[in-house]
Amino acid sequence: MTRPPDFATRSVHAGGGRNPSSGIAPPIFQTSTFKLASAREGVELMQMSAPERFYTRWGNPTTKQLEAAISELEGGEAALAFSSGMGAIAATTFSILSAGDHALFAKALYSATTEMAQQVLPRFGVEVSFAEGSDLAALRSAVRPRTKLIFFESPTNPTLEICDLEGLARIGRESGALTVVDNTFASPYNQNPLRLGIDLVLHSMTKYIGGHSDLTGGVVAGKREHIEACWKMLKIFGACLSPFEAWLAIRGLKTLAVRVERQNASALAVARHLARHPAVERVHYPGLPEHPGHGLARKQMRGFGGMVSFEVRGGLAAATRLVESLKLITLAVSLGGAESLIVHPASMIHGLLSEETLRAQGILPGLLRFSVGLEAPEDLIADLEQAMAAGGR
Ligand SMILES: *Cc1c(COP(=O)(O)O)cnc(C)c1O
Repeated sequence: MTRPPDFATRSVHAGGGRNPSSGIAPPIFQTSTFKLASAREGVELMQMSAPERFYTRWGNPTTKQLEAAISELEGGEAALAFSSGMGAIAATTFSILSAGDHALFAKALYSATTEMAQQVLPRFGVEVSFAEGSDLAALRSAVRPRTKLIFFESPTNPTLEICDLEGLARIGRESGALTVVDNTFASPYNQNPLRLGIDLVLHSMTKYIGGHSDLTGGVVAGKREHIEACWKMLKIFGACLSPFEAWLAIRGLKTLAVRVERQNASALAVARHLARHPAVERVHYPGLPEHPGHGLARKQMRGFGGMVSFEVRGGLAAATRLVESLKLITLAVSLGGAESLIVHPASMIHGLLSEETLRAQGILPGLLRFSVGLEAPEDLIADLEQAMAAGGR
């Protein structure tokens, strides 16, 4: 039996079969609409799900190539791209839920997903509750007869907890609820939730898939019937990806494996360094043996990711001084790009979520979330060192 090609090989070529024109770099179909051969063809296309050449909000050949690539890499039957991660998350959620349903969300989630769950869904008659992602027993007992959606992230934002995805998938299957995992922090290189039995996987392509902090996009992958339901929402809510950004995302995929491999290695080096540092109270990185989810991460992930969170001693004041003293690492939201970025979650998402939610998510005043970029790890460590020394003065 021949071995299937490695992820690195597949990520270079995935979706390429849809590009007969050059066979190498794909064309950008920068058009909003497509000429119809006849009125009859128009009628036929309008009856199709996600036609490729009808109207770009409905589908576009460049976007389709990206979707084919993501679906292949995540191990789905189909995928659907959006103009942002939140576009994908909102459309997917609304494709599953109706008034009277119950939805179970992780306690620790991307802030806008938490806002949607807390503030938007209840307005439409959906009952929402929250469970700890790292506690399967609690999760199982939080499922209700009307639970239709179970939505989790792993590793979580920003404290990088690990959720047992096979266990989560089992609970979903037993209860008849669809399981959805936001896989943004792991990237498709480090983790493939569909292969662990999860129903739908989501990404903010703004992060690792784009990889260069120059595009905003989202994607969902899974079974064809579920993706078709998402497409019906995309068509109405309208968060379609532009063909140019689809092209950028395809370009990003070709280097995903080398970028993430480097980020995995650099993040581990940074995490090890910080774990020994006297100014650091605690490091959250699933690659460290002392991380509570380390064993699970070893089992379900290919690498531990490029995100490291750490708590500095001295709380809010020390954390603020540190981020303002950095010279190489940039204070900015977002993650997954070539440039290392750092955020101070307690102050930066403070306005969006209540004190109680922040505490429940483990967002302490001294916590910093570091997206390790492609710079040499020694330079990143040196910058952290000089900033911690400056902050101590
Ligand atoms: C950034 C992010 C999102 C939202 O993606 P956008 O592209 O900004 O809409 C969702 N989930 C996670 C985990 C993210 O990091």
